[in-house]
Amino acid sequence: MGIAALGRALAARQLSSVELTRELLGAIERQRDLGAFLAVDAERALAAAAAADAAIARGEGGPLTGVPVAHKDIFVTDHARSGLPSTAGSKMLAGYASPFDATVVARLGAGEPAGPPGAGMVTLGKLNCDEFAMGSSNENSAFGAVRNPWDRSRVPGGSSGGSAAAVAARLVPAATGTDTGGSIRQPASFSGVTGLKPTYGVCSRWGMIAFASSLDQAGPLARSAEDCALLLAAMSGFDERDATSAERPPQDYPALMRQPRPGATAARPLQGLRIGLPKEFFPAGLAADVAAAVRAALAELEKLGATLVEVSLPRTELAIPVYYLIAPAEASSNLGRFDGVRYGHRAAQYDDLLDMYKKTRSEGFGPEVKRRIMIGTYVLSHGYYDAYYLQAQKLRRMIADDFQACFQACDLIAGPVAPTVAWKIGEQGDDPVKNYLADIFTLPASLAGLPGMSVPAGFGEHGMPVGLQLIGNYFDEATLLQAAHALQQATDFHTRVPAGV
Ligand code: GLN
Repeated sequence: MGIAALGRALAARQLSSVELTRELLGAIERQRDLGAFLAVDAERALAAAAAADAAIARGEGGPLTGVPVAHKDIFVTDHARSGLPSTAGSKMLAGYASPFDATVVARLGAGEPAGPPGAGMVTLGKLNCDEFAMGSSNENSAFGAVRNPWDRSRVPGGSSGGSAAAVAARLVPAATGTDTGGSIRQPASFSGVTGLKPTYGVCSRWGMIAFASSLDQAGPLARSAEDCALLLAAMSGFDERDATSAERPPQDYPALMRQPRPGATAARPLQGLRIGLPKEFFPAGLAADVAAAVRAALAELEKLGATLVEVSLPRTELAIPVYYLIAPAEASSNLGRFDGVRYGHRAAQYDDLLDMYKKTRSEGFGPEVKRRIMIGTYVLSHGYYDAYYLQAQKLRRMIADDFQACFQACDLIAGPVAPTVAWKIGEQGDDPVKNYLADIFTLPASLAGLPGMSVPAGFGEHGMPVGLQLIGNYFDEATLLQAAHALQQATDFHTRVPAGV
């Protein structure tokens, strides 16, 4: 069952949160070879489940009370309260005990101290991810790769690979993730689950370990659009501790998702919806299996009443160099705080302060993180700032403007999430640029700050899942969810389960 159905079953007392939690803890234990979970605290999860059952019995439950969830280990979790570490997939944070919960974690769980109560979900543990969320395959985690439940020799996508694999393998009904350049949408696509990256500013970044602050955004990975809507309603909303948090009233995403469109009928729920297909999202080099699944999903959306129109995002290819300048630039600044003094790891032996910094950072960071710190430091340095960083910022604005031109002619934009299905673990070797190029279809919406989804659209080569990407205009998560939900009412790809699960 997904989270909406579980919430109903728990409320009707058809099952207890303790039973459900125990069942999932067993599954997590049996599937340890997947590498999806970095930490589990069974005792505290069961205690939280018992508290949820008691709240339901008192008639105090909400739609998510007692439903299990797990968090990408880029969200900090109050160590004293949860017993869980906060690592960002890095050795650098070894031994770090967070004194507080990320806003998203608090809102989905017990609530913020001295704040309103949370949704009452039961946290099962923390999920593996690429180190500091840098990657597209989860192979950059200091704690080892995550395996794709559909084929354990393949990657689950990244950087929220643990989240996607855990949901796909039915270890947890839903998980949080973060998306800086595609890290919710791409692993959702590779692992056959539904993922939503909201408009920048919809979910608070407070307590989300920063990678590239102008891009980082939290969102849900779950089985369906309906489940994503429920989670997003609980985890989103203004937070005064995040200076870029959007100041908007709370949104009832499940209700917005179900709101009938003008002129819609039961058979044609998407009547009047214009979906733009950027011609740059369907290049000659797009893998045939991905193209076929995406085209089939688009044909289904047409049957449901949508009209397809051709649009253009002429700077799609430029999104790659622009992102891979801006993201490392911001990362190099954000990661300056990991100096061996304030957080986690410190080298055991050193001569003086500078030597301590050097040794700590050399030991603590993995190769991809070091590469990005070096690129970022370089492009921000005197004499290069104008040539690289400033140019990238100008192009970023033009990429955002290109989207606005498209939205004159359409309500949503659609295309593939990634150019291929999930690749084999180790297949990309030591070539980081190969990984960077595979982000081509997710980076443009990230740079523009637009909301996007990956919706299961079928299966390609080797039986691997293919996701359809939908991109909406600013704060129009409702239309995204409507289209994804309609598609999921007409198709069953999102209900398929990998063999052996
Ligand atoms: N693959 C991209 C990168 O490596 C995006 C990662 C992300 O969204 N966190 O930076």
